[in-house]
Amino acid sequence: MKRTARSSEAKRSEPSAVKTASPPLRSLPQRTCVACRTARAKRELVRVVRSPTGELSVDLRGKASGRGAYLDPDPACLERGLAEGALAKALEIDIDGVTADRLRVELAAAAKERRSSA
Ligand SMILES: [Zn+2]
Repeated sequence: MKRTARSSEAKRSEPSAVKTASPPLRSLPQRTCVACRTARAKRELVRVVRSPTGELSVDLRGKASGRGAYLDPDPACLERGLAEGALAKALEIDIDGVTADRLRVELAAAAKERRSSA
C-alpha cells in the first residue's frame, strides 16, 4: 500500500511536554496572525478551524481537520480579525454573532491554558 496523499501540516514530531531552557528558534514553523499579520512560531498562536460541517472552533492541538486560520492568543487580535473580516475571509465563512461569542470564550480559554502550560 502506497500513500500518495502528503500532509504538509501534520508533523508528528511535536513533543507535547518537553522542557527546554533555550528553544532552538530557527527550525520552528512560523504562521501569521490573520488579524495583525505578525509572524510567530506556530505554537505561540491559536488555530481557529472550520470543520467540514462549517463549525468554527479554537483548535488547541492544531491538528483538527478543516480549514484553519491562526490568531494570536489575544482578544484584541480576535476582535480585529472579526471586525475587519480577516478571519471570515481566511476561513471562507460568514461569522455570526453567536459564533463570534463562542470564539471569544474559546480563545480566552486557550490563552489561559497556554499561559499555565508555558
Ligand atoms: Zn495578532
